[in-house]
Amino acid sequence: MTETPPECTHWIGADRRYCRARDAVRRYLPGLRCPAHTPSALRGRPEPPPGPGWPTGAWTTPSPQSASALFDQRAVASGKRRAAAHTYRAAQQAVRGRKS
Ligand SMILES: [Zn+2]
Repeated sequence: MTETPPECTHWIGADRRYCRARDAVRRYLPGLRCPAHTPSALRGRPEPPPGPGWPTGAWTTPSPQSASALFDQRAVASGKRRAAAHTYRAAQQAVRGRKS
């Protein structure tokens, strides 16, 4: 089996041919496309940010886990959440420390 190099599979109706460009061809939902024929480009929209997954800055915000730990601490400090006496005092200290 021979591997064909990736090429743009966009059908150019006016020219009655496929684009077949091989520069910077990437896989999109409709197939392989060159930068001029991406789904966004065909709709006149800006390209979505590149790269797999979320942008690196996305995780600089507190993770859900640490956020819930903070909420837990506040709940313990307010007495709404049952906790051992020493846990309660520690939580109150921590919450007071954050506010000041
Ligand atoms: Zn193309």
